[in-house]
Amino acid sequence: MEHVLSTDYDTPPGTEVRDDAFYEAFRAELRQFMEANCPPELRTKVRNAHKMARKEYSEWQRILAAKGWGAPGWPVEYGGTGWDLRQRYLFEEVSAELDCPPLYHHGLGHIGPVIMHFGTPEQKARFLPRIIDGSEWWCQGYSEPGAGSDLASLKTSAVRQGDHYVVNGQKIWTSHAQEADIMYTLVRTSVEARKQQGITLLAIPLDTPGIEVRPIHTIDHWHHVNEVFLRDVKVPVENCIGEEGTGWKYGKFLLDRERLSPASVPRLIRQLEQVEKVLLERLREQGTSPSLHGALERLFVARASAQGAREMLLSAITEEIQGTLASSKSSALKLHASELAQAISSLAFDLAAPELAPRLLPDDEEAPVSDAEDRERQLVHTYLFYRSRSIAGGTSEVQKNVIARELFGA
Ligand SMILES: Cc1cc2nc3c(=O)[nH]c(=O)nc-3n(C[C@H](O)[C@H](O)[C@H](O)COP(=O)(O)OP(=O)(O)OC[C@H]3O[C@@H](n4cnc5c(N)ncnc54)[C@H](O)[C@@H]3O)c2cc1C
Repeated sequence: MEHVLSTDYDTPPGTEVRDDAFYEAFRAELRQFMEANCPPELRTKVRNAHKMARKEYSEWQRILAAKGWGAPGWPVEYGGTGWDLRQRYLFEEVSAELDCPPLYHHGLGHIGPVIMHFGTPEQKARFLPRIIDGSEWWCQGYSEPGAGSDLASLKTSAVRQGDHYVVNGQKIWTSHAQEADIMYTLVRTSVEARKQQGITLLAIPLDTPGIEVRPIHTIDHWHHVNEVFLRDVKVPVENCIGEEGTGWKYGKFLLDRERLSPASVPRLIRQLEQVEKVLLERLREQGTSPSLHGALERLFVARASAQGAREMLLSAITEEIQGTLASSKSSALKLHASELAQAISSLAFDLAAPELAPRLLPDDEEAPVSDAEDRERQLVHTYLFYRSRSIAGGTSEVQKNVIARELFGA
């Protein structure tokens, strides 16, 4: 699929206007660096759709940080590249095209911007550089057994005692908690007012006594989500991000960014290209048939949908830079990208003989397999994992509610 970056998006105020030749040279520079510096074994893993763990993410993050590209979306003042919208999107696009690992989002995409906007100078100096060099990993402690879509019902409590809080409660579905250093956590510091009030955002180091992380194994046989139990966990007051009791505001700021992931659409376009290649090969080998014709139709719909997602993403990134991003826009994008991801992975799965599924999920995940078998196995994993795309980061129903509320006042 040919991608031409349209030029008709508003240039954010204060951004230097550059011509197409500048961006073409920039794309060539990205391509040259990534081809020369991204380790081939990492690229194979990404191409075969393996799940990434801290080791892989950090390896690539360190290489990018050494080049000065560790935080493509951050301003220069905080160690970022200061790139404009088109540069940021080109970075994601080239990275996806060359099968380089995505950037780990919890630090760079989520808590980093919150600390930049609302943190103290000490918090900025303490946390931001370690997100960029990949030496410190964050995870998100929002959801609880009784508080997912209705996040404001969260009950994990933090009681102030002198210069620290004492935290008690349970978080669930905490992605990567088993390998993270710090959990940015929404806790309840007061029950007196509306439930959105009295919520506070704390940075809780996961090696603090009283924390237990228990694995949850999902349908795709992957361990990346967890339960996190907190029993009398002492957290220094200086780890409170922003003001006590106003964590809902920061939590929402962060959720809007979570729903706007600059990397997700180029990665989906790359997957779509791979599916298209397989389908065209089948058509060449077998000629047309009702099932391949049906697959072709699904491919065309997915391509149109991917183009729409790309346009939405570009306009949302512009609005984020201008500070005008509406929740409905990031929710619409999240909804659209989840549906697209599921459509692409379903199509790939259907093409690759679903009867293989049971034997492609063996008990011994470490057993050596051929490259082709590995690719097929990961395809089934991706299909299963993508079922969660319409749940994680806020369910599709909740996104529809946000859109309806903002657009129609429903
Ligand atoms: C793979 C994965 C990774 C995750 N990672 C994290 C993480 O790192 N950190 C974290 O904090 N959380 C994480 N989550 C949790 C995720 O944010 C929640 O699962 C999600 O918000 C839904 O909450 P719930 O599971 O409690 O479901 P519920 O809120 O109980 O929803 C159950 C069903 O009811 C529907 N529903 C609920 N309310 C409404 C409504 N008002 N209108 C219409 N329908 C409604 C929902 O759409 C859903 O279909 C992750 C989840 C998954 C699956």
